[in-house]
Amino acid sequence: MTRGFEPPDPFAATLERLANDMWDGPAGREPGAARGSMGVGGIPIDTIRADFPILSERVNGRPLVFLDNAATTQRPNCVIERVARYYSREHSNIHRGAHALAARATDAYEDARRETAAFIGAGADEIVFARGATEALNLVAHSFVKPYLKPGDEILLTALEHHANIVPWQMIARETGARITVCPVDDDGQLMLGEFERMVTPRARFVSITHVSNALGTVMPIREAVAIAHRRHVPVCVDGAQSAAHIPVNVEELDCDFYAFSGHKALGPTGIGALYGKASMLERGAPYQGGGNMIEDVTFESTRYQPAPRRFEAGTGNIAGAVGLAEALRYLRRIGMEEIERREDALMEYLLEGLRSAPGVSVVGGWRPRRVCAVSLKVDGIPDARVGGALDQLGIAVRAGHHCAQPGLRRFGVESTVRPSLSFYNTFDEIDALLDGLKGM
Ligand SMILES: *Cc1c(COP(=O)(O)O)cnc(C)c1O
Repeated sequence: MTRGFEPPDPFAATLERLANDMWDGPAGREPGAARGSMGVGGIPIDTIRADFPILSERVNGRPLVFLDNAATTQRPNCVIERVARYYSREHSNIHRGAHALAARATDAYEDARRETAAFIGAGADEIVFARGATEALNLVAHSFVKPYLKPGDEILLTALEHHANIVPWQMIARETGARITVCPVDDDGQLMLGEFERMVTPRARFVSITHVSNALGTVMPIREAVAIAHRRHVPVCVDGAQSAAHIPVNVEELDCDFYAFSGHKALGPTGIGALYGKASMLERGAPYQGGGNMIEDVTFESTRYQPAPRRFEAGTGNIAGAVGLAEALRYLRRIGMEEIERREDALMEYLLEGLRSAPGVSVVGGWRPRRVCAVSLKVDGIPDARVGGALDQLGIAVRAGHHCAQPGLRRFGVESTVRPSLSFYNTFDEIDALLDGLKGM
């Protein structure tokens, strides 16, 4: 495919602005003196926040304090503009058609695949676009695991999985006579690796495990779990919905066989996500959806499929979504995932410290473990929905409910929690607002 169109890069303008703003004053570089305006990797926080138009919204007469980032993040201007530019100047269907726009759209889509791959250290042919983490996990279950399952085989999960990493496995277990086994977590929400090792039995065919718990924010020891499973030749899928936008992820280092994540939790559009699969794994899958785009040749008797990854992308996909996702990942890379992790760690430490001294507040999973993005709490004597509603009156968005992780919460003896969750664009002042709100209950 020839590259007949070089779009102007709106990101260059953002970069230039970032470079200029960086030297506006020392405030962004002095955490002690001006904690509230401390930046991310040398970029002042106000500059970052200005990239996200929705952060200037007012809710219930107050400035919006968006602390629901584990449910979805917000979009920077460059993503909004990139999607608009795609529709204004590049849109057509892809991989077909001998015209210039088809080439532009195909170039943009395949460029998005390369960018998505680079973001997690994968090869471009190892990325399948899907609707999100949910569809990616369903794809793994149906295309890569179900064809190999026999009655009595085991699929090993952990006690802290999102429903998206439970229900698809139940569906294929029911169809094949396989069963689900569940590795416990301890009272700190940490995976019990000894148990895990014991549970990778000779009957275990597959492991699927979350990277970061969306309910508790605790982090799973993926590398260790993968090493244990691989010693027994059991492939591992990682649900990366809560890790991709918060900590640096390299699938080669993790050595996982699959890694699934959602665009909308990583500053990108809704309805797009990605599945990484090791090239050797992708070659072994049987597509579970058929249609256009994924075929090489069709007769009424039989069909020859495209090679991976396209054989797993039946029909017209979310082209604009993929293009927007790539722009979001470029934005994250430009700031730097290490810097983002450092910023969010500092915010989380500050939040946990504040929660500790808030009367009547307890944290599910205790105070000890590291939290990424999310933390689940209870306020003594006040129902979660009331806490959420009261905070909303103050313009503060948090989640109250079961967070699509009912078995995980029940492990800790609760049916629901209040869950604030962070992004690097949040501020220490916003956390103060949340803490004040909780103390005023
Ligand atoms: C959000 C989430 C999912 C599902 O993501 P969708 O974008 O809804 O498909 C899966 N796993 C975890 C851990 C999540 O947080």
